[in-house]
Amino acid sequence: MKIFETHAHLDFEEFDKDRSKLLKDCFNSGVEKIINIGVGKQSSINSIKLAEKYPQIYAAIGFHPSEINDYDEDFLIENLANKKVIAIGEIGLDYYRMHFSKKEQQEIFSKQVDLALKFDKPIIIHDRDAHEDCYKILKDRKAKNVVFHCFSGDENFAEKVLSENWYISFTGVITFKNSKMDNIIRMVPKNKFFIETDSPYLSPTPNRGKRNSPMNLRYIINKIAEVKQVTPKMVADISYGNAENFFLKNLKK
Ligand SMILES: [Zn+2]
Repeated sequence: MKIFETHAHLDFEEFDKDRSKLLKDCFNSGVEKIINIGVGKQSSINSIKLAEKYPQIYAAIGFHPSEINDYDEDFLIENLANKKVIAIGEIGLDYYRMHFSKKEQQEIFSKQVDLALKFDKPIIIHDRDAHEDCYKILKDRKAKNVVFHCFSGDENFAEKVLSENWYISFTGVITFKNSKMDNIIRMVPKNKFFIETDSPYLSPTPNRGKRNSPMNLRYIINKIAEVKQVTPKMVADISYGNAENFFLKNLKK
């Protein structure tokens, strides 16, 4: 079984003590590709460093809505030229934490969407309690290659996202007892989803509360398999192919 981890923060200090051993364990257990996600300038730099060190790792760079204070467009433009920088993210709107006003968040989000379109990079969306505004900004700009990371909308919003031909990504949240995500899992076509851990956060059941790592992807795979009534291997293979086509297609040009 080969697995594509589409969203992790393995540069975070939670992994400082055992990063190289953990990565070795991941690669040995079938996690063949990992996208490490930036949330601001320093973590984007660290993501690129990891991607340059490991052939299996790719980087996404961007400014998360809680970290827009050091927004640096020149930094993004410079580094988007790096072959291992394969997406802009995570970017979006967070109306749950509100470190910045809606207007400020929307302004920086819009700028980054424009950049992604200009450089033909996929966009990894962080959307917390801001579904409609995220949708509008993306729709107004005719964004094409979009994934809603850790999808948290309802069935109606999933339908809207899917009708734009955008993607939905599942984290360990789908394994939580109260997640209410089974219907979304059922309705997502097999060519429209990815899997991700968002490590070190969102550890799936039965490891909830502990540090998360790509080693836990199998719980997410098993949950999707159970709901969609297919084998775990099918879920891993299909999501691997989806992620490869979506994130790595420019590498083949
Ligand atoms: Zn994340």
